Amino acid sequence: MEELFNRLMAALEKELPADDYQRWFLPLKPKSLATRQFIIQVPNIFFKTWINDHYGLRIRKLIDEIADQNMDLEFDCARPENSDPTAFPSPAPESTSEPAASRYDYYETGLTSKYTFSNFVVGSSNQLAHAASLAVANRSAAYNPLFLYGGSGLGKTHLLNAIGNHLVGQNHNLRVVYRSSEAFTNELIEALRTEGMSDFRKKYRRIDALLIDDIHFIGGKERTQEEFFYTFNALYEAEKQIILSSDKMPKDISDLEDRLRSRFEGGLFADISPPDRETKVAILTRKAMEEGIELGTDVGFYLASQNETNIRVLEGYLARLCTYASLTRKPIDLDTAQRLLGLFIEADRKQITLDLIIKVTADFFQLKTSDFRSSKKHKNLALPRQAAMYLARQFTSLSTIEIGQRFGGRDHSTVIHAVKKIERVMENDKSLARTISELEKTIKTSATAREG
Ligand code: ADP
Ligand code: MG
Repeated sequence: MEELFNRLMAALEKELPADDYQRWFLPLKPKSLATRQFIIQVPNIFFKTWINDHYGLRIRKLIDEIADQNMDLEFDCARPENSDPTAFPSPAPESTSEPAASRYDYYETGLTSKYTFSNFVVGSSNQLAHAASLAVANRSAAYNPLFLYGGSGLGKTHLLNAIGNHLVGQNHNLRVVYRSSEAFTNELIEALRTEGMSDFRKKYRRIDALLIDDIHFIGGKERTQEEFFYTFNALYEAEKQIILSSDKMPKDISDLEDRLRSRFEGGLFADISPPDRETKVAILTRKAMEEGIELGTDVGFYLASQNETNIRVLEGYLARLCTYASLTRKPIDLDTAQRLLGLFIEADRKQITLDLIIKVTADFFQLKTSDFRSSKKHKNLALPRQAAMYLARQFTSLSTIEIGQRFGGRDHSTVIHAVKKIERVMENDKSLARTISELEKTIKTSATAREG
């Protein structure tokens, strides 16, 4: 165990800036090692979250390489029994310099690391939005807020994450928070429910850069708008960066307070229009390349010639073509692409329903579908039910409230808790992560197989 741990630390020391290494890794200790599970002791929850968010993937990869097998790595922040409480160095300076500890003292950035500037293809349709995003990310221009506007699947979420990742990459201590407006709303509801509003406000007003995706969903949500307005003002006055994305122009967001509308219109407005054919081909070719697949120019142009402008949808077609190619071990030629695409478009018309999700999950765990809808609190049902709620969030557009209702009239906070829990456990528990991805696959194929 000591050896594994020491080799891991040596590898990290080589890779990381000395500051980061000393701050985050010197205080760690090996705790236990079983056949495939390695537990590392960390000083507190703050360390655990920070290390998981910023170094989790890298450390897990290193451990697998060093141990030469798949290892489950966990960070434990409970103190060993009878331990000397002074045995650990005090936590990182910035965590102690903050006011009284609260559950909001550590930040989940919420960023997706795969979306970066380097894998964003620039074309005339997104040039302005890209340039503005880059300027904000490099802090070379004061556009506040930056408002990215464009239709669905045109790269707003990608750009927002690219900005956030770039900021954090330059300065680990920067507090960057990315939230969909729905996640922001849910967090607010949760804070109201648990009387955690002052923590909530404290947290959001100490951020260095706030990125809210799909802000148009704030329309009609009065309480969220009010809270967001104050957060916005506090950050704005402190000259902190705010970046928003929206499917709608501020003037077209229904039920939006005028004072917010004018805030949204007060910064830089950058729109993304549907990509031209060449840009579409370039994006698809790049995505295929990332998957290690060479996309023939004719097939690329064929895909791009579809009326579809939503790149997410095109990517979906591409992914399915690639799956087909790898299953049949045949290259994707134009004929095949044309034939398959017809099937995909047809299959997309059929929706993945909650019933289907529950049925697949019940089959997998060998339970009855009625168990999922009942209010029974049996222990064995908890995880499958949480998994099904998580999947319902992935696959359907049902709100947490609606999902709760259809799972035996549960409260929406139960659904939020379930989704968070599954996400959290998946990070550390590879077998659960595998189960979920298997369920996802089955759901997708059963939905297509029904009529397709
Ligand atoms: P939006 O948030 O505007 O609905 P997304 O940012 O989610 O759209 O983009 C949908 C998908 O298309 C993502 O996988 C994203 O990586 C990809 N995408 C969109 N525009 C580009 C681009 N210019 N270069 C590379 N990928 C892109
Ligand atoms: Mg988006």
